[in-house]
Amino acid sequence: MTDLASPAADWDPASRLAEVRARVHVAEAQAGRAGAGVQVMVATKTWDADAAAGVVRAGGALVGESRMQELAAKGEALRAAGARIHVIGQLQRNKAAIAVEFAHCVQTVDSLRLAERLSRLCLEAERDLDVMVQVNVSGEESKAGVDPGEALALASAVQDLPGLTVTGFMTIGLNSPDEYAVRTGYRRLREIRDDALILSERGDLDLREAWHLSMGMSSDLEWAIAEGATMVRVGSAVMGTRATP
Ligand SMILES: *Cc1c(COP(=O)(O)O)cnc(C)c1O
Repeated sequence: MTDLASPAADWDPASRLAEVRARVHVAEAQAGRAGAGVQVMVATKTWDADAAAGVVRAGGALVGESRMQELAAKGEALRAAGARIHVIGQLQRNKAAIAVEFAHCVQTVDSLRLAERLSRLCLEAERDLDVMVQVNVSGEESKAGVDPGEALALASAVQDLPGLTVTGFMTIGLNSPDEYAVRTGYRRLREIRDDALILSERGDLDLREAWHLSMGMSSDLEWAIAEGATMVRVGSAVMGTRATP
């Protein structure tokens, strides 16, 4: 990777993180979810290893990376800083080994074939891996993820694979200023998660661990929290915007 960015000289990750956490707390309270403990993941993709490790040292231990080439380059530095790394970009099967080497969780499982590959790699590495099922709630062609109607079947099949634990569902929301449309998608993801837990309770599925809802970004985390997000993924609000050369 040659094009990783470094932040502005006056970048202060601790105060950026504090601002985002304050937004999260206000959103939790407004949603009647005070004290819900919504987790903040910082999307450190495209930023260099020093910047990513700086976020971790400032208290943002949960980080998201999208491209495996980049993770291969930054993984050791992130690990040394004590990061918990989540994969949030589309993962090709031939790059799955990099995810298994560094990640605690792959949030972007959208096919059984990918899950089978991750499972096999986990067995070889004698480790367990958390995964989430990525769902395309917006119906946009360009968005990755399974259709909502297929999410539970995929989650159940993935949970049957050794080495993997399905910890929840993830989506990339509609990129729109239309609050109703965006929230409708997030609500759909919550309904899928609720169905998973209800069916598990009844013994019809085994997805008891799948309570996470990873949804919401810098621009719409309040809407996601209002719809039940347990983890928001924040990039620009912490990292800043990349200067375009
Ligand atoms: C980059 C990224 C984010 C963060 O986006 P911002 O708008 O910068 O907060 C969230 N989710 C995914 C999957 C991303 O790739």
